[in-house]
Amino acid sequence: MTPAQNRLLADLNGRLPPRAIVTDPDAIAPWLTDWRKRWRGRASLLLEPATVDEVQAIVRAAALTGVALVPQGGNTSMVGGATPPEDGSAAILSLRRMNRIRAIDPDAGLAVVEAGVILADLHAAALERGQRFPLTLGARGSATIGGLVSTNAGGTQVLRFGTMRGLVAGIEAVLPDGSLHDGLAALKKDNRGYDLTQLLVGAEGTLGIVTAATLKLVPAIVARGVAWAAVASPTDALALLRRFEAATRAVESFELLPRESLAAVLRHIPGARAPVAGDHPWHVLIEATAMTPDDEAPAALFERLLADAATAGLVADATIAASEAQAEAFWRIRDSISDAERATGPAAQHDISVPVETMPRFMVEAAAACDARFPGTRASGFGHLGDGNVHFHVRAPAGVDRDRWYADEAPAITRFVNDLVVAAGGSISAEHGIGQMKLTELVRLSSPARLAALRAIKAGLDPRNIMNPGKLIAPGDTPELAPARADE
Ligand code: FAD
Repeated sequence: MTPAQNRLLADLNGRLPPRAIVTDPDAIAPWLTDWRKRWRGRASLLLEPATVDEVQAIVRAAALTGVALVPQGGNTSMVGGATPPEDGSAAILSLRRMNRIRAIDPDAGLAVVEAGVILADLHAAALERGQRFPLTLGARGSATIGGLVSTNAGGTQVLRFGTMRGLVAGIEAVLPDGSLHDGLAALKKDNRGYDLTQLLVGAEGTLGIVTAATLKLVPAIVARGVAWAAVASPTDALALLRRFEAATRAVESFELLPRESLAAVLRHIPGARAPVAGDHPWHVLIEATAMTPDDEAPAALFERLLADAATAGLVADATIAASEAQAEAFWRIRDSISDAERATGPAAQHDISVPVETMPRFMVEAAAACDARFPGTRASGFGHLGDGNVHFHVRAPAGVDRDRWYADEAPAITRFVNDLVVAAGGSISAEHGIGQMKLTELVRLSSPARLAALRAIKAGLDPRNIMNPGKLIAPGDTPELAPARADE
């Protein structure tokens, strides 16, 4: 424990119940490493408040003593966002005990949910009230509302319902001086200047601690349908999506995958079976839902639209899931791609976006450019075509030494891919945020205007840099920001 942390502890003893202060190294250990086991930090103090008052007491004490706080929810960040720094200077502030659903109002289509509520628990609670929170992702059994808000999470329903930014109607947060931003009221119109709520969405814990959010719900679905189609190219896939969109608003997911991704799943995931016969270069998984009894049944919709698309030459083969189990099996293929590719070998992975209409060309041209520039590697993208967001992976040549390849080769590949993304007008982080993984690249590739604005906002709201230092804003980036140090 550093001297500053001892002062913090002395300040908090008596103000917080003993349960909220954890110093046992064994209890802290699981929270020092990120989900991918890529980053490892040190921390001697884990704070676990259960109320907003307790969060405020912690943040005030941290501001007084200069101890940095690393907010943590489910710790499923893909970019090392919730991992404490290696120098042991920070305390972890876990929101997991703030896990109450304060209210669900089906008439208003709103839920008020504390930061530590796990996404799957919100799904279940909403369903009990005939409602649905229309955002889901692979980590739904662990990811929390605070983390989802703070990363502006996306997922597989963005096509229809947007990202967290669009689903958050209000936020309650403790700001870096310990004051409370009580912005939970769901106002359709609010013109009081800068939108603090939206500033906190996607802030990765660098501007304050989200303690609760008001979230938009939609009616629970009446029926869903899942279809699989084989197509010749990403261009045909996007044309297929546009046909669907012209005919219906029922499409929620439209996921594109290349033959390499399907092959990896079939090879490495037990029980996985190809949905359509034959060897096709590209595949799409489509989900559509009926939200009222009057909506056309998704299966009938698929029959009609896929038959039209086949006649127009856009679809080589297609099948509609005949049961919930088959629908789940189709989704399992999509959700297993990362695991299957990990089993295949090392890969430099990029979570990127470009304008939707540009994406088909980008996927093909960027993959060809990578293959040519880094002989022996194999590049391809898969994911949310309709959002202009794919996971663009460059797989290592067969037989390389994994650690050496990641250390010596992957960084140059990532810089190359990111340059292509920026040249296409895109973003080097579509879903996962910046965390510590993309800091250097954010600085390298951002315009001076963007960087200056990010730094000014951070310095203005968190002048002592106690909120998740070293994430999103590079350490030492801003002279005004003096991160708390282990020896302070
Ligand atoms: P953490 O990992 O604990 O934290 C994430 C960031 O938010 C950190 O910077 C942390 O400091 C900050 N933070 C956490 N809680 C708070 C709070 N209360 N106040 C302020 N800051 C806070 N992401 C997507 O967008 N789309 C996907 O499809 C997707 N799929 C995934 C699939 C898998 C298998 C996994 C493991 C991850 C996936 N992710 C995806 C990434 C991850 O699940 C999301 O980023 C999620 O939002 C993180 O939630 P969390 O509670 O685990 O947050």
